[in-house]
Amino acid sequence: MIKKRYKKLIDITIQSLIDAQVQCVMLDIDSTLLKWRTQRVQENELTWCSAVQDAGITITLVSNATKSRAEKIALQIDSEFISPAYKPWPFGLLKAARMCAVKKENCIMIGDQILTDRFAAFFAGIRFVLLEPISNVEFGITKVNRFVEKHIMRRKNL
Ligand SMILES: [Mg+2]
Repeated sequence: MIKKRYKKLIDITIQSLIDAQVQCVMLDIDSTLLKWRTQRVQENELTWCSAVQDAGITITLVSNATKSRAEKIALQIDSEFISPAYKPWPFGLLKAARMCAVKKENCIMIGDQILTDRFAAFFAGIRFVLLEPISNVEFGITKVNRFVEKHIMRRKNL
């Protein structure tokens, strides 16, 4: 049984994908496969991707990132990619299904954002798994910065 939510990508077992008759995994990049604004797929995720591919399941990156960024990531996991996919529009996902020559019911989209990933999957009629975004120190600091900025601006009446 494949659940609707997991904490991390690597928590999804290969067996659960096989049992759910998944033949094509559509994968978001940022905060799903790797930390936001980083370039390297980490060891655990690399291992997970090759295990999925060894099971005969295709992985296609479907990301709103730029083409050059998606290409760099795709090279590391030896996958196809569709970028920018303009999620929540469903067209990138539908194209990915056509590229893999896999029926929609044998696809699954995995991502960390409801407004982009989940809606795109919904509009495309493709199953969806929501992950918790990979925590990102940079992002945390940005959030703190924003809070501080707001506070300063309020005090200075800017
Ligand atoms: Mg994401």
